[in-house]
Amino acid sequence: MKYVSTRGQAPAVDSLQALLHGLAPDGGLYVPQGALEPLPPQADYRSTMVSLLARFFPEMEAKAREAAVASSLARFRSAEAVPLKAVAPGVHFLELFHGPTYAFKDVALTLLPHLLSYAAQARNAGEVCVLTATSGDTGSAAMEGFAGVPGTRVLTFYPQVGTSEIQRRQMVCCQGENVAACAIAGNFDDAQAAVKAAFADPALAERARAHGSLLSSANSINIGRLFPQICYYLECARKLAQPFDVVVPTGNFGNLLAAYFAKLLGAPIGRFTVASNANRVVCDFIQSGTYNARRDFHVTNSPSMDILVSSNVERLLWLLTGGDCAQVRAWEEQLKAEGAFTLTPAALEALHRDFASGWATPEETERAIADLWQRFGYLADPHTAIGWKVLQELPATGRPTVIAATASPWKFPATMLRALTGSAPADDFAAARALGELTGQTPELLALESAPIRFSQVTAKAAVPETIAASFGF
Ligand SMILES: *Cc1c(COP(=O)(O)O)cnc(C)c1O
Repeated sequence: MKYVSTRGQAPAVDSLQALLHGLAPDGGLYVPQGALEPLPPQADYRSTMVSLLARFFPEMEAKAREAAVASSLARFRSAEAVPLKAVAPGVHFLELFHGPTYAFKDVALTLLPHLLSYAAQARNAGEVCVLTATSGDTGSAAMEGFAGVPGTRVLTFYPQVGTSEIQRRQMVCCQGENVAACAIAGNFDDAQAAVKAAFADPALAERARAHGSLLSSANSINIGRLFPQICYYLECARKLAQPFDVVVPTGNFGNLLAAYFAKLLGAPIGRFTVASNANRVVCDFIQSGTYNARRDFHVTNSPSMDILVSSNVERLLWLLTGGDCAQVRAWEEQLKAEGAFTLTPAALEALHRDFASGWATPEETERAIADLWQRFGYLADPHTAIGWKVLQELPATGRPTVIAATASPWKFPATMLRALTGSAPADDFAAARALGELTGQTPELLALESAPIRFSQVTAKAAVPETIAASFGF
């Protein structure tokens, strides 16, 4: 299995190289070369993970693959790491939030560090210094996932405005000698753009090399983030044993892309639905075929989807055009230069064969939370509730639907309480206690309230390369 760039101007590389470098040297994203054969059904989730790794990371030794999967699964609170809950008629919630930071990012980020650590050792790449931009959930998941993994370090940039208090504390209180977090004066797109620019900065790369280190990424541009996520859709296929649709709360498009890959690997998924918040750039793209990032950025009550530049759409473009790298490159160049591009009619038709989309305002998000609680006694976090809202507006297909439940409600207690009662205290922890009393459920994550704060630095966008060099000691 080789990996090629979506933009077609970089050499094909093996899986360890793709893992270590994250972004291809031509600015594209790595994708597996050639057609994908269906993965034979496995006995359980663990064996699905192991056989998927064997397929996509063949350079890794079998023993190391087994050990990486075991380490990842050991971090989950639920015996079934990713339980599928039947909540409403024909609607299942795939709970992806039983890992260390209570969001679906844990599924990939409890595994990726072991893959990277292995790749770095096998290739004598030195210390892997991972840079991450986060809208709220990736940062803490990366820090928890990499903490204590030999030969790795992590620096996370998070937006100064937009994350919830609990999300922020999960980062700034995270323990682990090899992890750090820094606020960036700006929003998520600023953080992501600054990290992307750091990867493209030859001076910084040279300083890393001189230090015996390699800069890498834990964002969903890294192919090692994508593959663990495919496994839970294959697991749904195993459990449901019939064709189904998926609805996925979408930001950077990594999770939905994983579902699409699961279909290419044999999962009988019918309709793929993008559920967006008020930053509905991908939702509009699916409907109109025009990707237009020239719009106002909204800070919403589903902060992990507050994104206007959705990196993994590039991989979808590559798949939709049958691997037409020149076309993907032209679109991406147009996006960079003009802030927008439009699909060809043929590509739009291919998109509409499989994809639907919808979105919710913050008020609609709260109404969806209340609806799920009042009718089904199910507490869905704001991101997941948008999936429910969007599903209600789609034509029925007769197939069961799996909604990806991407975060725990206890990560966003103020929004949850406001949705159920009309008001909430400004303090997340007070809100969590009140929500516990109201619902009779046990609040989680309260220990963060008294956890010591380790990181309080705020950096300007322009100072990011210096901050990186100082943090990693280059
Ligand atoms: C990251 C995240 C999303 C968006 O996932 P993408 O793969 O970026 O589309 C949705 N919900 C939650 C809770 C998240 O943390």
